[in-house]
Amino acid sequence: MSTNPRPARLLTQNKDLRRIGVWNWTLPAWAGRLADGRTYNTCPSAGVCAQVCYARNGTYRFRNVLARHEANLAYVLDDLPGWYAQMLDETGHRRHVDGWVRIHDAGDFFSDDYLRAWLDIARARPQVTFYAYTKEVERFRRLVEPDPPTNFRWVYSFGGRQDALLDPTRDRVADVFPDGEQLAAAGYADQSDSDLLAVVGPPLVGIPANNIPAFRRRQAGRSFAQWQAEQDAQRAARRARGRSQEVGR
Ligand code: SF4
Repeated sequence: MSTNPRPARLLTQNKDLRRIGVWNWTLPAWAGRLADGRTYNTCPSAGVCAQVCYARNGTYRFRNVLARHEANLAYVLDDLPGWYAQMLDETGHRRHVDGWVRIHDAGDFFSDDYLRAWLDIARARPQVTFYAYTKEVERFRRLVEPDPPTNFRWVYSFGGRQDALLDPTRDRVADVFPDGEQLAAAGYADQSDSDLLAVVGPPLVGIPANNIPAFRRRQAGRSFAQWQAEQDAQRAARRARGRSQEVGR
């Protein structure tokens, strides 16, 4: 059982989100270990993005910040019904009427049950609009796309292991570009002015890369979609070589 204390409030706001009237729920990014020793992976479909993950850097790594995000995750893992009831209660407050909730500053819809819980919350709170970035393409195709709540919006983000399932002519997609020129040249619209543009703006959502030198070096002038496609092609070539060596034995 978790040793992480239950968070008193589930939704938070930083100054950027306050400016655009958005409240935020988050998990810890990607992989880690809870205080009780359990390991976790909140982004099971993360790909190259994990190598330059904004949420595994800077203030996100401060002990108190990470502890708070891990307490959120422990709550979901240990008591999904209790977490659901508290989230339902919180999003029912009048301050959220006609407002927005961003699901995940970091982390993703790591299980079917967790995603279903969010869909149920959205259906029960029609006066709030919920939105998310996700790399869980297959899970959304199966559980969300057939019958999405009208107040639940999402954008698929490139840089994950399921990128190959995405179709930018049909899906709303976000990509991270090394600079604004490449972003515009690719036909994407910059969402820097407001995070809400990710779900209410043009469907090709462009995000300029973080200005962290080590991350920029790793990204090496590629968009996340390009970088992931390169990595997928290299992996496929390695697999094909492995198979042909087995046949040759
Ligand atoms: S999906 Fe987001 S939070 Fe998870 S590893 Fe990738 S960039 Fe980080």
